[in-house]
Amino acid sequence: MVIIMEDNATEQQVQIVTDKIKALGFEVHRSDGKERTVLGAVGEKRGIDKRDLELLAGVREVVAITKAYKLASREFHHEDTILQIGDVKIGGDNIVIMAGPCAVESKELLFTTAELLVKNGAQIIRGGAFKPRTSPYSFQGLGEEGLKYLREAGDKYKLAVVSEVMDVSQIKMMLNYVDIFQVGARNMQNFWLLKELGKIRKPILLKRGMSATIEEWLMAAEYIMSGGNYQVILCERGIRTFENYTRNTLDLSAIPVIQKLSHLPVIVDPSHATGRRDKVLPMARASIAAGAHGLMIEIHPKPDQALSDGAQSLYPDQFSELMDELRIIAKAVKKTI
Ligand code: PEP
Ligand code: MN
Repeated sequence: MVIIMEDNATEQQVQIVTDKIKALGFEVHRSDGKERTVLGAVGEKRGIDKRDLELLAGVREVVAITKAYKLASREFHHEDTILQIGDVKIGGDNIVIMAGPCAVESKELLFTTAELLVKNGAQIIRGGAFKPRTSPYSFQGLGEEGLKYLREAGDKYKLAVVSEVMDVSQIKMMLNYVDIFQVGARNMQNFWLLKELGKIRKPILLKRGMSATIEEWLMAAEYIMSGGNYQVILCERGIRTFENYTRNTLDLSAIPVIQKLSHLPVIVDPSHATGRRDKVLPMARASIAAGAHGLMIEIHPKPDQALSDGAQSLYPDQFSELMDELRIIAKAVKKTI
């Protein structure tokens, strides 16, 4: 249920409504839009009389949100959410580019990559320090050492840092190094992890599970938001279908669907979606044309020597070429890159 306040409602009126919602046994989540404040009443308790709230001063309307996700829905927050990380904006009319190797392999690799990012106007460096590999015998990542390299590269080149968190036990340590916590496809429904990430106040990049419906994905976002962390970025990274020519099937239609249902920024990872570098470029272009708020792309100075996902990692020249193309596409769709 959302309580939409009048445009000119006073802070005191908002407070009285907030107290009333709490007294009715709900949790209150507040969204201050450009024009008006919306209060979300979320909780298990049912069967309340809407009029108890409708009649309070400053209340314009009380609307039941019929969807299972509430805080992630457009009903709760009408305008696009725009996250701000330093100078970087994610959401709205902004396009953000996150790029880097699949795994942090060495300090040198990250510094070379960071230079390439800056040269081409990307804003966020990625790299896995904890890797969710299909085989236990594959490279598992450098752990905290890898996060240190990421932070050093981020600080030196003024890039924000995103890296995957795999387990609740890693959150506290990772807070020292990352600007954005990535939740991988395999963990999208790790509800305990999502709940813990709801307690922190840093952005979460939530990848779509490989067999998750859009509603399940939004419910995963809701888990994080219900803890009070509203800074969620959704990332479409391909889903598993009967088609096996590409690693996954990129669900481009998820972009406009999400944008209708939710206010959260949605970006695309064409690397894991296709698994082949020659297919990454066209799908990256298509994603921006379809309205994505950004991309997460795997790049490597020497993809043939990469310890993971080399086949889907772009060569530096391909990345530069793509960035040039994206600037043209961004302009066509009236976005800033
Ligand atoms: C990754 O980004 O390196 C990754 C493992 O992605 P996903 O969780 O989408 O497979
Ligand atoms: Mn990868």
